[in-house]
Amino acid sequence: MLRLRDVSKRYEGRHGAVPVLAGVTFTLARGEVCALTGASGSGKTTLMNLAGLLDRPDTGEIRIAGTPVTGLPDVALARMRNERIGFVFQSFHLLHRLSALDNVALPLLYRGMPAARRRALAVAALDRVGLGGRAAHRPDELSGGQRQRVAIARALVGDPPLLLADEPTGNLDSRSANGIMDLFFALNHDLGVTMLIVTHDPTIAARCPRRIVMQDGRLVDDNRGALRSVEGRPVEERSVEGTA
Ligand code: ADP
Repeated sequence: MLRLRDVSKRYEGRHGAVPVLAGVTFTLARGEVCALTGASGSGKTTLMNLAGLLDRPDTGEIRIAGTPVTGLPDVALARMRNERIGFVFQSFHLLHRLSALDNVALPLLYRGMPAARRRALAVAALDRVGLGGRAAHRPDELSGGQRQRVAIARALVGDPPLLLADEPTGNLDSRSANGIMDLFFALNHDLGVTMLIVTHDPTIAARCPRRIVMQDGRLVDDNRGALRSVEGRPVEERSVEGTA
């Protein structure tokens, strides 16, 4: 669903180019839920911006749902972003003057969908996140956990196969945070959405079946990848060795 091959990115600084990502290669299979962790400055946001088609790599290749995106013109990237990728952010990024329903329907407006259809899909998406009864509420009339649910409904209203979440529980208490993770897993189970979730929180990362770790612009650990790389040997055997 998401494939990065030897992706690198540098920024021009006052003292020359600073490498921020160096030779990042990984694949998220359809339906995987993966945490992305690493110290501040390790390159997580840069990686998410590249995967979310908000920025372009200097070298390497990115594929989304099998389509190579690196060489596409901006207008095609914007379209792919709207149709194939849902975004969830730490600070929700809801529009304060709009109701929950209108916030959720917004991505469909950019697709040129008729109003009645937009509304019907937004109602269904709010129902799915457990907020059917809050459609007319504005964000400031909702709790943090409810706001994030609205943002998740907005991310998924257009039925994208890939969800990118950047610290989605970072502004929530642990109970609401776990509720959001429960929702992610239910959506993953019911809709098959592939998810990449940046998190600082070890308990949130521990709930994800796969965890990749960045350090200084490189992927330094991948619990699944490490297991896969032991060719021809059963996973259990490797696990036992790993705990020894
Ligand atoms: P993380 O999300 O893991 O904290 P980032 O991807 O935000 O890491 O940043 C990785 C490194 O790239 C940091 O050292 C940061 O200072 C640098 N960086 C990020 N964005 C820019 C930019 N636009 N210009 C220059 N340097 C940047």
